[in-house]
Amino acid sequence: MTELRDRVQDVLARDACSGCGLCARLDGGLQMRLNAEGYIRPTETGAPAEVPDAAAVFTRSCPGVRITAQDPAGSHRHPLLGSSFGTWEAWATDPEVRLAGSSGGVLTALHAWLVASGRAARIAGAAGDPRAPRRSIPVTITTREQALAAAGSRYAPVAALTNTDVFAEGTAVTAKPCEISALRAAGTGREGEGPLLLSFFCAGTPSQRATDALLEGLGIGPEREVDALRYRGHGWPGRFAARAGDTDVSADYEESWGSTLGPTTQWRCKVCPDGVGESADIVAADSWATDERGYPQFAEGAGVSALIARTRRGLEVIEAAIAEGVIAVRPLSMDGLANAQPLQTARRRYLLARLWGSSLAGRTPPRYQGFGLARLGLAHPRRFAQVLRGTLRRVRAARGRRQ
Ligand SMILES: Cc1cc2nc3c(=O)[nH]c(=O)nc-3n(C[C@H](O)[C@H](O)[C@H](O)COP(=O)(O)OP(=O)(O)OC[C@H]3O[C@@H](n4cnc5c(N)ncnc54)[C@H](O)[C@@H]3O)c2cc1C
Repeated sequence: MTELRDRVQDVLARDACSGCGLCARLDGGLQMRLNAEGYIRPTETGAPAEVPDAAAVFTRSCPGVRITAQDPAGSHRHPLLGSSFGTWEAWATDPEVRLAGSSGGVLTALHAWLVASGRAARIAGAAGDPRAPRRSIPVTITTREQALAAAGSRYAPVAALTNTDVFAEGTAVTAKPCEISALRAAGTGREGEGPLLLSFFCAGTPSQRATDALLEGLGIGPEREVDALRYRGHGWPGRFAARAGDTDVSADYEESWGSTLGPTTQWRCKVCPDGVGESADIVAADSWATDERGYPQFAEGAGVSALIARTRRGLEVIEAAIAEGVIAVRPLSMDGLANAQPLQTARRRYLLARLWGSSLAGRTPPRYQGFGLARLGLAHPRRFAQVLRGTLRRVRAARGRRQ
């Protein structure tokens, strides 16, 4: 056992792994594989083959060990959504890209433009596996066609950092917030250095088994080969849609994400302080319209993303994309965005209670710095106590079932 492998085992034992794949890049004897619960986890497949300083890089970067909030000089800090140099509503000006994207197709538009303009040599992203569309895989994008093929959210496990292109010179990376924080921390951590980092708001990674259950509920059993599968897009929020031979099935967002996929997010995501991509240069999200209670409305329409410049570098890229007509924007305040994201704001507000509840039940969560969790949580003591008790009960029950 090496020091790195000891630390990986510790993260796994605490159920703190998000499945990003960083450790598998640090040790060639580890591979990311789906476990029985349908989450991607590092698995020992060979003798240790570690890069220099593997244990030290892991300790400062693994999102199951720690995450530090970024607060670049000159940015404005929002207590629930993090730091920014600018916030907009945005959408791709190319209608095909806007339609294909999860919300406004902004990330896809940026991908196509970044590679066409030479601002990036390639994009490391994620997409459906063309050979097994039930599954999601890391991909490398160098053309508009590849960007379009990767458009849309994959609400299933994919270890984005296992893509060897992530660490190649000239790559820009789009990945989940935990993967982006791992990359930021693995590099120098300094603004403006290393790859351009793009991300999106993330409620959490559902189990792969939820995708299979959704398909089965729609009449495509586990024995059937699937020819195409998308979770979102082709409308906003767009329908989950799959094809197997001559069978076409679909489900709306409430049924797919709301009832089947969302409830299966892994534990690490339930105690995530950073579903809002604080370590990225640029972050996209859904800019839902809200009802009179402030709850998001999932009526179909032309997609609109929220877009945040987290760093000066991100701001410069967004301003250039606007100037070159790649994306169209209109103003959006961080408070307006916070209102449209009740899951993200509630999770952060009461996260400290979940962390304490989890620790008291014997499951030590990762360490989080700079997110202001104490100030947020303790502002509502009664709710704090409720969440703490609920978490304690749930984690104890889960640990009891495993023993
Ligand atoms: C698991 C998950 C949870 C999410 N939760 C929220 C949420 O709580 N609130 C919210 O506003 N938005 C959430 N989103 C993001 C949202 O669905 C859109 O991605 C976002 O609005 C950007 O839309 P877009 O049209 O600009 O992106 P697109 O143009 O559709 O581009 C999306 C890009 O993201 C990358 N990608 C897709 N899935 C994954 C994945 N699983 N891992 C790594 N990279 C991936 C691909 O490279 C793709 O090119 C979530 C996305 C995912 C994958």
